Amino acid sequence: MNVIIADDSKVVRSIVEKAIKPLGYSSFQAIHGGEAIEILEKMGSKVDLILMDWNMPIMDGYNALVKIKEDSRFSSIPIIMLTSESDDNKVKMARDAGAAGYVKKPFTSDELLDNIQRVITGS
Ligand SMILES: [Mg+2]
Repeated sequence: MNVIIADDSKVVRSIVEKAIKPLGYSSFQAIHGGEAIEILEKMGSKVDLILMDWNMPIMDGYNALVKIKEDSRFSSIPIIMLTSESDDNKVKMARDAGAAGYVKKPFTSDELLDNIQRVITGS
């Protein structure tokens, strides 16, 4: 299983990587949405999950979410937004654009793992 971790903060990327270690995923790090899409272009359907920050320079997570969900090659890959944007409107925007989950920062490892488990098993 392969996961893309897209966040402009190196610290957050490594926290996320550590948190999901028990799942045994291989992780690929992106520093903005455009980079996440570049990784997708290379790996295609081998990507099983994307964990996406909202606020990133160059291409933010919301724009990347919209682009990925509009692309029939990638639209079935689940995307969980990881963000300090707690505004209900933003949560709704992400859901409407096809996000599979929404985890508010700061989060605990357990919260993140629970969310991933829920998305992966569809429960
Ligand atoms: Mg950020």
